[in-house]
Amino acid sequence: MSVAGPDHRRRVPRTDAVLADPRIAAAAVRLGRPLVKRAVTAAQQRAREGALPPEEVVDAALEALPPAVTTLRPVLNATGVVLHTNLGRAPLGAAAREALAVAAGTCDVELDLATGARGRRGAGVVDALLATVPGAGGAHVVNNGAAALALVAATLASGREIIVSRGELVEIGDGFRIPDLVESTGARLREVGTTNRTHLADYERAVGPDTAFVLKVHPSNFTVSGFTSAVGPAELARLGVPVVVDIGSGLLAPHPLLPDEPDAAGVLAAGAALVTASGDKLLGGPQAGLVLGDRELVERVRRFPLARAMRVDKLTLAALEATLRGPVPPVRAALDAPVAELRARAEAVASRLPGRDVRVVDSEATVGGGGAPGVVLPSVALSLPEPYAAALRAGVPAVLGRLEGGRCLLDVRALAPADDEALAECVRAARVGS
Ligand SMILES: *Cc1c(COP(=O)(O)O)cnc(C)c1O
Repeated sequence: MSVAGPDHRRRVPRTDAVLADPRIAAAAVRLGRPLVKRAVTAAQQRAREGALPPEEVVDAALEALPPAVTTLRPVLNATGVVLHTNLGRAPLGAAAREALAVAAGTCDVELDLATGARGRRGAGVVDALLATVPGAGGAHVVNNGAAALALVAATLASGREIIVSRGELVEIGDGFRIPDLVESTGARLREVGTTNRTHLADYERAVGPDTAFVLKVHPSNFTVSGFTSAVGPAELARLGVPVVVDIGSGLLAPHPLLPDEPDAAGVLAAGAALVTASGDKLLGGPQAGLVLGDRELVERVRRFPLARAMRVDKLTLAALEATLRGPVPPVRAALDAPVAELRARAEAVASRLPGRDVRVVDSEATVGGGGAPGVVLPSVALSLPEPYAAALRAGVPAVLGRLEGGRCLLDVRALAPADDEALAECVRAARVGS
């Protein structure tokens, strides 16, 4: 560090002057004055020490500022896992992002603008759900899929029994288990059948005066093969007690690529009383939990005291409604993209990287998010030397790829086509020691 003379120190701009710079003032509006002032003070200090030319104080302060007041950083998903739990599952589409901007301010979330009286909170999203899911007489939205199931159990089965197959006692991730979740509401679980086989007769024997409902949980994150059997909702509906199905992924209608994933419309048509599901898996919306089905049961769930503790905010309501009403969300576009299209995109990105050790290779993508286990989505990736993995994670935006066979693979299936350009730019900017 060079020691600056008094003349040099005099040329360091005063704090007031720096804060009055229009770019600095704009940053202070966006990021808050204390944060901006700290960056200015640090830049001034470096200038006084001679480590920075005094006329560069403003630029240096601006450069030191974070892009936003959040420790969250944007990440391009090049993992080939469409619903990556560590990356926040479903990315929202343009319609949902626009809706978020509307809801971020004050909005008529609970106001009838025609009369000026209080309105029904979340009416728009409930209407959109009822229009999308034939057979649902009612719909209610809570924080997440686990909350949807817990609220149904608390409302209908506290102090009573829920019958469930031993083949459907699922751990959903991070150590949380569906049976523990359900029992935490004060309901008792009555397990029937075995791990691999459960029959209608097992359920029949268990039904009694204490039965609140039969629960079917979609084993969304594992498969059992071999000598297996399970009872579907249509048969269970004949038992004469309500059937509640936790379908997990939030498919509202069948998807041709995912024949083993139950969908809300199909399960209700088969005779289930209620379906619970996630909003941010295959539905492609914000984190949310859905309760769909019998109008009277949904109304009881909605009015149950615990429902207030699981209420979603206006941001979730807005993003979910836009996902339901708007164009195909990114998750669905990623699932449905033909391989030829993915290859053309990968080749276009590779062509922007002359002189790099980059190859376009076949790849295998997955649905992820604890859904559709065993389903392989044919895909295409850019293959780069392994050191790119760490270098790309350090970039802005960060890029998360996948290590395979000593190479860093950047799979394009889960990436929005609009981000292809950014991906190429990130690879170009990656600092990889050669
Ligand atoms: C994902 C999942 C859940 C939990 O949903 P969250 O939205 O993550 O709370 C519950 N049940 C099944 C079958 C699931 O797949």
